[in-house]
Amino acid sequence: MTLKLYYEQDADVKLVQSKKVAVIGYGSQGHAHALNLKESGIEVVVGLASTSKSIDKARNAGLRVMETSEAASWADIIMILVPDEVMASMFVESIAPHLSAGNSVAVAHGFNFHFDKVSVPEGVNVFMVAPKGPGHTVRREYVEGSGVPCLVAVKQDVSGNTFDLALSYAKAIGGTRAGVFETTFREETETDLFGEQTVLCGGLTSLIRAGFETLVEAGYSPVMAYFECLHEVKLITDLIFEGGIANMRYSISNTAEFGDYLTGPKVIDDAVKDRMKKALSKIQSGEFADEWLEEYRSGAGRFKSMRDQGADHPIEDIGRELRSRIKFSSGNQLVDKELN
Ligand code: NAP
Ligand code: MG
Repeated sequence: MTLKLYYEQDADVKLVQSKKVAVIGYGSQGHAHALNLKESGIEVVVGLASTSKSIDKARNAGLRVMETSEAASWADIIMILVPDEVMASMFVESIAPHLSAGNSVAVAHGFNFHFDKVSVPEGVNVFMVAPKGPGHTVRREYVEGSGVPCLVAVKQDVSGNTFDLALSYAKAIGGTRAGVFETTFREETETDLFGEQTVLCGGLTSLIRAGFETLVEAGYSPVMAYFECLHEVKLITDLIFEGGIANMRYSISNTAEFGDYLTGPKVIDDAVKDRMKKALSKIQSGEFADEWLEEYRSGAGRFKSMRDQGADHPIEDIGRELRSRIKFSSGNQLVDKELN
C-alpha cells in the first residue's frame, strides 16, 4: 500500500497567511484552530452569536470576535466549528448570504456536506481539515511544538488551488508537524461515524459496562470491577497506541496473552461484526444522519434521557469516589471549561 503523507515541507503557510480567516464557534475545535492560526501569523476572527457565552473567553485569549454573519462577510476562509446538528440552519441564516465568489468554506467533519444537509454554494471552494483528535489536544500539541495528524479533503475547487489551501491551513494549526492524509468527504464522514459508534465511544463504553456489570452481578466488589474493566483500559490502550496490538501483547503476561487469544474472539465474535456491518449500512444510507438531526429538531428528549441514564450508572459513582481519593494522573488536565 502506498501511503501518501504531507509534512511541513509539502505545505506553504503563506497561502493561508494571505487570507482572512473566520473561525465560527469557540468550542473544542474552535478555540484550538483560532489560537493556533493566530500564533501562525494568520489574521483571524472568531465568529459567534451576539449572545454567546464564549465571547469573553475568546477576547480574554487575545482574539478578535465578530457576530457570525459579520465574520462571514469579512473573511476569505470561513471555518465552521459549531456542532454538526446546528450547522445547516446556521449556514443558511448567517453564512451563505455573506459569501462572495472565491471565498472558501471549511469544516472539520464532513457530516453536513456529505449528507447534503448543506448545499454547496456556487463559486465557493469547500474543503475539510479534520484533526484526528479532540480540540484540546490540537491546542496542547501545537503549544508544545508538535501537532495532531489531520485529514484534508476538497469537495469543491473553484480557485484551482483548494487542496494546497487546505494543506496550508492544516500546517497553520500544526497538522503537518505530525502528518496529513488526503481523503474524501464521504470516506471521512462515514468512517468517523462508524468508528465512534461501534469501536471508540459506543463500542468501548458498552464493553466496559458489560464487563463491570458481569463482575458486580457475580458478587465481586465494584472497586475491583472498576479497576479491571475501566481504569486499566487506559493502561492497555496506551500500549496499543504506542506500538500496536503486538506491542501490548509483548508487555502483558503470557497468561493474559493466552486468555486474550482464547476468549477475546468468543466474546467479540462474528455476530458482533455482523451488527457492525448493519451499523455501517445505516450510516452509509444516511439513515443515522436523519435520525440524529430529527432527534435534535424534536428537542433531543431521547438524547438527553440516554445521557442522564448513562451518568446514573453505578460505574460512575464508584469511579467518582475512587478518583477523588486516589491520585491516578500527573494532573495535566486537558479540559478547562473556564478557558474554552
Ligand atoms: P463544540 O465544542 O460543541 O462547539 C461549540 C461552539 O459552537 C460554541 O462556541 C457554541 O457557541 C457554538 N454554537 C453552538 N450552537 C450554535 C449556533 N446555533 N450558532 C452559532 N454557534 C453555535 O463543537 P466541536 O466539538 O468543536 O465540533 C465542531 C466541529 O468539529 C464539528 O463539525 C465536529 O464534528 C468537528 N470535530 C470535532 C472534534 C472534537 O474534538 N470535538 C474532532 C474532530 C472534528 P457558545 O459558545 O455560545 O455556546
Ligand atoms: Mg471522530
